[in-house]
Amino acid sequence: MLDVPKPTPTCTSSQTTTEITCIKCNDRMRLMLIEPRDERFNFVTYHCGGCSSNESFLKTI
Ligand SMILES: [Zn+2]
Repeated sequence: MLDVPKPTPTCTSSQTTTEITCIKCNDRMRLMLIEPRDERFNFVTYHCGGCSSNESFLKTI
């Protein structure tokens, strides 16, 4: 089980990108995990190589 301290309840209809910018250190965060949440949402987790933090979002499928 992954340690996800505070999932960010961000729901967006934009496409899931493989990389985002880290809000903490501005380094690139790579898409690490996609978990189906329910019929409409995926729970996606990004990992930052710069500060080793994880960021999770809810994405519409
Ligand atoms: Zn970072």
